[in-house]
Amino acid sequence: MRIKGIRETSASLASPMRNAVIDFSKMTLSVVAVIMDAKLEGDRIIGFGFNSNGRYSQGGVLRERLIPRLLGADPDSLLDDQGILDPVRVNACMLQNEKPGGHGERAFAVGALDAAIWDAIGKAEGKPLYKIFAERFNDDIYDNRVSVYPGGGYYDEEKGIEGLKSELKGYLDTGYVLMKIKVGGAALEEDKRRIDAALSIVGEGRNLAVDANAALGIDEALRYANAMSEYELAWFEEPIDPLDFKGYAELAAAVPIPLATAENLFSEADAENLLSYGGLRRDCDWLQFDPSLCYGPTTFLNIVRKGERMGWSSRRHIPHGGHQLGLHLAAGLQLGGTETYPLVFQPFGGFGDEDEIKEGYINLPDSPGLGVEMKSELYNKILKPLIDG
Ligand SMILES: [Mg+2]
Repeated sequence: MRIKGIRETSASLASPMRNAVIDFSKMTLSVVAVIMDAKLEGDRIIGFGFNSNGRYSQGGVLRERLIPRLLGADPDSLLDDQGILDPVRVNACMLQNEKPGGHGERAFAVGALDAAIWDAIGKAEGKPLYKIFAERFNDDIYDNRVSVYPGGGYYDEEKGIEGLKSELKGYLDTGYVLMKIKVGGAALEEDKRRIDAALSIVGEGRNLAVDANAALGIDEALRYANAMSEYELAWFEEPIDPLDFKGYAELAAAVPIPLATAENLFSEADAENLLSYGGLRRDCDWLQFDPSLCYGPTTFLNIVRKGERMGWSSRRHIPHGGHQLGLHLAAGLQLGGTETYPLVFQPFGGFGDEDEIKEGYINLPDSPGLGVEMKSELYNKILKPLIDG
């Protein structure tokens, strides 16, 4: 199975809401289709990949550097001993002549292509991707269902508190148990009113997480953490800058609320630094590396394994990103769960059209690869035009 062609496009993720730091009115992402020379049951194998929300599309990096490198390589140099694409070799090819460090825009471009390569591998083997991940990286053991929670509760002036409650009630009615809302984008007293309103829907504090999107300084984060201590919430996400490891260590030593971070760290080196110097607690804090932003699932797998060598259970990972890639990794590596976006970042957010949530868990799909074809709006509006165009 060799790469025959690659297509890329930029798609809109525009949404009217905001978190504490950015609004999403001009948000985009990159979508890629890697077309193979092989077929599965008569259909040409095409791997699809895309990065997730928050980091914009990366067409320049894809068109000017990564895609020409892959198409210019000896096709056989990208294959493993079985003649199937080898993601490690593909990654090395994409990253030739790229200096170490400075992990930013290119990490998202590589991430989209790497996801597409894995999608193609799943399709070539006729298996859902979580089974491939389990076979190769987890002694063929996988979870049959995955804990999933909606990232929502964004700031939206028009919705107000009642709108927030009705959003969360909708998640509850859909089958979710744990959910997350934004904080740090209003005064603390207003955020406490939002938390009280959310708790009136979700019940216990352990069913509600809050996310400040790195908006706070250390003193403000401590004030928030102390003010929220009475609620016994599930976690306090990105209270401070994602690279302020000293600040995370200070917070973790000072407050009982579990912390969650890492959606804005994109490399193995950054992961090692967080786990070495961030003071996070292996028994209660959460790691949220985004597999589509941190150079793709190949690097995400390395981060999980690196964490294990440093004493972190795979169950402490709950990937950011909110789509099927996180779901397959969560099942195949037996992670703690995955995020989803039922109402925002469509048509990319969430899972297959037929996938149901029950008591906070989702069962795993059977379709080969990532199963993006099972999201009809995504396939019909974005993916099919990309390969037909
Ligand atoms: Mg977050």
